[in-house]
Amino acid sequence: METFLMAKKPHAVCIPLPFQSHINVMLKLAKVLHCKGFHITFVNTEFNHERVLITRGPDSLNGLRDFCFRTIPDGLPPCDINFPQDILSLIDSITKNGLVLVRNLITQLNEESSTSLVVPQVSCIVSDSFMSCAVEAAGIPCSRRQISSLKLILLFFFCHYLLVCIIDMSNLTNEDLNMSINFIRGVTDIRLKDLPSFFWDGNQDVHNIMSQGALNSSKASAIILNTFDALESKVLDAIGSLLPPIYTIGPLQLLEKQIPNNELTSFGSNLLKEHTDCLEWLDSKKPNSVVYVNFGSTTVMTKDQLVEFAWGLANSKHTFLWVIRPALVIGEAAILPPEFTKETEDRGMISGWCPQEKVLCHSSIAGFLTHCGWNSIMDTICGGVPIIGWPFFSDQQTNCWSASVHWGIGTEIDKNVKRDEVEGLVRNLMEGQKGKDMKRKMLEWKKSAEESTKPGGSSYANLEKVIKDVLLQKK
Ligand code: UDP
Repeated sequence: METFLMAKKPHAVCIPLPFQSHINVMLKLAKVLHCKGFHITFVNTEFNHERVLITRGPDSLNGLRDFCFRTIPDGLPPCDINFPQDILSLIDSITKNGLVLVRNLITQLNEESSTSLVVPQVSCIVSDSFMSCAVEAAGIPCSRRQISSLKLILLFFFCHYLLVCIIDMSNLTNEDLNMSINFIRGVTDIRLKDLPSFFWDGNQDVHNIMSQGALNSSKASAIILNTFDALESKVLDAIGSLLPPIYTIGPLQLLEKQIPNNELTSFGSNLLKEHTDCLEWLDSKKPNSVVYVNFGSTTVMTKDQLVEFAWGLANSKHTFLWVIRPALVIGEAAILPPEFTKETEDRGMISGWCPQEKVLCHSSIAGFLTHCGWNSIMDTICGGVPIIGWPFFSDQQTNCWSASVHWGIGTEIDKNVKRDEVEGLVRNLMEGQKGKDMKRKMLEWKKSAEESTKPGGSSYANLEKVIKDVLLQKK
């Protein structure tokens, strides 16, 4: 009887772009909203859901109260579960087929709601800004029960896309890449090659996808950014007037920890099996003694680049933990030279996909050689670990530039990586004055991130605000 009298919860349908890092950050937001009283439907592609079930065990997703998973097909031919899908084909397929799938799903959920005591009517879509199908689905009433369009909240990783997507550049020469760009509001001292790669690498498909993401943002009820005010204040000021209301609520991994009774804290979204033995290995190392090397889920490199990194690390004589995931090397298995393995066996660990957030918070980690994906930047700020950046594509160039020029927490390796440069930068980070300065600065940013996400901090307050002012509003 009691159940009949209880009001149903607000219902958020969370739709990430179907890639590891986007799923990770959306899941964190979904967990936070769940703790704040929302019923959550989390949408994965069938392929990714299968991978989550394999890595976590088949029963791992059962029994979660008010937190459901739904799947949509990705439209691609079947492929090896251990390897990432082709980024462009996946985005293309989802863009073409996603609208019907998302609308059908929302209709289905609303129909279930009419006969269920627990499933509420869908009240909002929280979508990745690069899921244009979700943006369209939110604007179109898709069942008789749903008489007006849905509240749409877009989750961006970072700010940079927004401020640069309004510039159109084509036919660039190599010389142009070093050109200073002085006309982006809120940004100084930036060269063209520091802008996201889709502005200058000639890849029109990616450029179109990103530009669409920026255009989508103007249709949203609000935009949530996984960053914090102090880190990107000038940029945030500059874009504030161009867009729907912006709520910075990062770093989400710290905000998540602030929520009491978070029964889903340890609930993760790895698409690859996680190797945790590196944590024990790190326990056996001295504080501040290990270089952590990880290029994320999508970066690829040539066999020669892998070998240059290997010898750079070996010649630095420092201890390292290097994560080599499947498909890191283009077209072949990542084979390290046997002499390298022999020479570094007492001070190097090669691992598979690891619990990165925990690794970066481990006291033995002193530096991070990274591709500068936005999540990795947030992870490393939370751990207080300075970086050496080797940006691969997309926003990574801009993140690396921000880290080195703007935030004082990193240095950059040339795209055409050479072992001597790797050795020099690792030594500099681990032994030099520059390394000490970066560490000091990084600890300041870490403190600032912690303050933002505590009660009274900007990210903490913005979460409350976006829930009250947007997500729970009926109109
Ligand atoms: N990650 C992880 N284990 C690894 C490597 C990465 O858990 O061995 C996670 C990391 O915490 C982050 C994401 O995968 O959440 C990588 O995202 P990022 O934006 O840095 O890069 P991308 O994978 O999109 O290139």
